[in-house]
Amino acid sequence: MLTRSGIGSPPRPGVSIGTRSGGEVIVGTGPSATALGVGRHAASDRVWIGFVPLLGRIDAHTLGALADLADQVSSGDLRVSPWRGVLLADVRTDDVAGVAAAGERLGLNSDPADPARLVVACAGSRGCAAGMTDTQADARELVDQLRGRAGTRAPVSFHVSGCAKGCAAPAGAEVSLIAEADGVYGVFTGRGIHDASPFGVRVGAELAPAAAIAVALTETSQAELP
Ligand code: SF4
Repeated sequence: MLTRSGIGSPPRPGVSIGTRSGGEVIVGTGPSATALGVGRHAASDRVWIGFVPLLGRIDAHTLGALADLADQVSSGDLRVSPWRGVLLADVRTDDVAGVAAAGERLGLNSDPADPARLVVACAGSRGCAAGMTDTQADARELVDQLRGRAGTRAPVSFHVSGCAKGCAAPAGAEVSLIAEADGVYGVFTGRGIHDASPFGVRVGAELAPAAAIAVALTETSQAELP
């Protein structure tokens, strides 16, 4: 059972607590909602730093390296969040930039603005007999394309699924790529608004991964906030 014990109260908005390569680390830009980013512990001058592994997966080598990092710069605790993240607790504010950079070298992002946090994918054909597409590869490509759209990041969630069971996102997502046959996806949006299917309305059918991603990004553009 995972808890948020010790994570502390929400940080004060707009308070700079350190620097990282490329700019200041600001508390209160959203990390308290998902335990991603940097937040101050209650009754302490120390902070926690929450990382998100790409697609919620972390291998043994990376986890071991993260544990070593925790031993060096914090209490040694690693805490797992319900949002597929990993937190280092009790980090000194002076160490925030270094810890964030060390995490990035391990492929772990602590930036709440990184669109990788918006994408979930099941095991797909790499790890499930029912999988009809390589969801892991296709979701990574989707993340890469979202990251390349700097300044146009939308508050949209994406779900890439190897079949219609939708294991990776039981609660659904705003845009879903659902494998419909070997190597092809249907693209759905409007879940909860349109009840044509559990995933919403199909806006693309039997599309190769590249075409399905293009349709998903079109839906993203239409959902962007000003
Ligand atoms: S959604 Fe389908 S392909 Fe993906 S893990 Fe579940 S059963 Fe397997």
